[in-house]
Amino acid sequence: MEWTEEAKAALERVPGFVRSMAKRAVEKEVRSQGRTLVTGEDVARAHKKHIAFAEDKEGEQSKTRIAVVRCETVSEVCPGVACFKAFNKRHRHFQGYGDDTEIIGFFTCGGCPGRRVSRLVDSLKKHGLNKVHLSSCMLLEGDYPACPHVKEIKAMIESKGIKVVEGTHH
Ligand code: SF4
Repeated sequence: MEWTEEAKAALERVPGFVRSMAKRAVEKEVRSQGRTLVTGEDVARAHKKHIAFAEDKEGEQSKTRIAVVRCETVSEVCPGVACFKAFNKRHRHFQGYGDDTEIIGFFTCGGCPGRRVSRLVDSLKKHGLNKVHLSSCMLLEGDYPACPHVKEIKAMIESKGIKVVEGTHH
């Protein structure tokens, strides 16, 4: 597949975290039309279709963006419904968030001792992350023991300048 200089420049302006996906989407579209040359117009069309929804509109930069990290082990049996319901209803540890708050990440720690957390928090920071909630399953003794690494995980997130809230729905 060939790309015009204009198309290449337009692709460079696509945020890095979605650029390779955008490239594949554009090429798929162009191929489906029986063409082999990607133009700037193709990139603009793909941008509108696949990327524009994720970009901040005027005034949206001030939104509060949060994420939830939860226990990898517990995720085997829990789809996270209580965390999402609590957020949707602004219950317990989500009280006080306004309508302009959105969840931009919901991820598991990656297994002891939370090996995935640092990497994913770094990634979420690029999307304006303000706060991370440690899920209630990490903190409560129940069918599973409380996480023995909570302190370190919390300190590591805070060291990146991100606030941490202990808990979600309990
Ligand atoms: S680090 Fe904590 S939250 Fe992650 S799997 Fe281990 S016990 Fe669960």
